[in-house]
Order: sequence, then C-alpha cells, then structure tokens
Amino acid sequence: MILSEPKPLEEVLGYLEGEKSVFILGCNGCAQSSGSGGPEQVAEMKTKLEAAGKKVTGTKVIDFLCEKALVKSGLRGKVNEVKAADSILVMTCGIGIQAVAAAVNKVCHPACNTVNLGGSRGEWPGSERCYECGQCLLDYTGGICPLTACTKSLVSGACGGANNGKCELSPDKDCGWELIYNRLKARGQLDKLKVALDPLDHNKLAARPEMLATSRYALENHDQEVKA
Ligand code: SF4
Ligand code: SF4
Repeated sequence: MILSEPKPLEEVLGYLEGEKSVFILGCNGCAQSSGSGGPEQVAEMKTKLEAAGKKVTGTKVIDFLCEKALVKSGLRGKVNEVKAADSILVMTCGIGIQAVAAAVNKVCHPACNTVNLGGSRGEWPGSERCYECGQCLLDYTGGICPLTACTKSLVSGACGGANNGKCELSPDKDCGWELIYNRLKARGQLDKLKVALDPLDHNKLAARPEMLATSRYALENHDQEVKA
C-alpha cells in the first residue's frame, strides 16, 4: 500500500500554466483507496480544471498506474484524447507517475504527494522507486525521481562526477541526473532546470505522528497492533 494525498489545486494549476489542454489519468489501486486518484477524484479534478479555463481532452482510470503494461493497454482507446492534450495530469503515487512518464511520450504532471507510511511501499514489477518524500518533485524532473534515481538523492542538479553517463559512486548505474536532463530535453522542458526549488523538508520524509496510531500504519508495520 502506498499512500498519496492530493496536492493543493493552486500547485497543480501552476504546473499547467501556459497549457490549454490536459488529459487526466487516475489509478484504481492505492490512489483510489487513498482518496487521491480514483474515479471520484478524477471527475472532481475535471470539473475544477474546466472551471479554471482548461480544456480536459479526456480522462481514464486504470487499475494500477505503477504497471507500465497496464498504462499502455489502458490508454489504447484514448490515443486521440491523449494526443490532443498538452500534457497528462497523473493522480497517483510517485511510482505511478514515474511509470506513466516512462510509458507515454508526453509531459506528465504530478497531482499528488506520496507520504510516508513506514511500510513496505508495496510490491510492483517496474524499476521506478519512491522515497515517499511528501513533496513530489516530479514536475521539475521529467517524471524521474531525483531522490531514488540519483545515488546521493540530490534534488537540485547533478554532482558533476558522472563518467560516461554512469554514477561516480555506482559505476554500474546510470547517473540519475543525466537521465533527468535527457528526459527534459526530449520533451522540450529544459527550462524546468532553471526553477530554484525550496530545500527538501526532511520532516516530511518520516511518517507523521498522527499516522502512527492508525490501522493503515499498523497494516504496513507488522510489529504494530491493528485496531478494529
Ligand atoms: S519526488 Fe520522488 S520520493 Fe518524492 S514523492 Fe515524488 S517520486 Fe516519491
Ligand atoms: S553521478 Fe549522478 S547519480 Fe551519481 S551522485 Fe552524482 S548526480 Fe547523482
């Protein structure tokens, strides 16, 4: 189980600035149970974006956005609607957003923050990973998580030590920031690298105190008692 929360609407609208149209994608897995990206939230988001003057070319809720094969098959009947949009707004966890950004050659914006549940972070077959930082940065990094793709979890650019595209600390691993640069370049988004992000709030990387007593937290942490 991965817990995600909706980002404030103003933040989402900021991501969509300069764009006229958008396709909305939701997830019937963890995001649906989190109340952040199921059919109801997708319909609500469509209404809000249209009220804000955006054209919503289409919507789709797919069972598990963290599975790229399901993303591709789920969008088969929506190709024209996706093509007609300037971007895709993805309403799910950081893993699902990354999977969509990898599976579809389109600018993808995150509509949710993934928050720490202290547990296993689910089981999924793809290579995408999320540290549940509670302040998803994927809009600025082409849908590649800087915390997990970069060995040092740098969020403000490359360390400069990469050698032939490989990380200076893990030569068997691609440099996460080179991947981010290449993705942004391919999608015409290199200006994103000019955005000065706030420093990461490390308090958000831990489970919140009020969450520790919940059944949801206990289900993810086997030493905890599950309350009825
Ligand atoms: S930036 Fe990375 S760690 Fe943070 S929520 Fe997004 S995918 Fe997860
Ligand atoms: S070489 Fe790339 S992946 Fe490795 S620590 Fe530096 S920026 Fe991160």
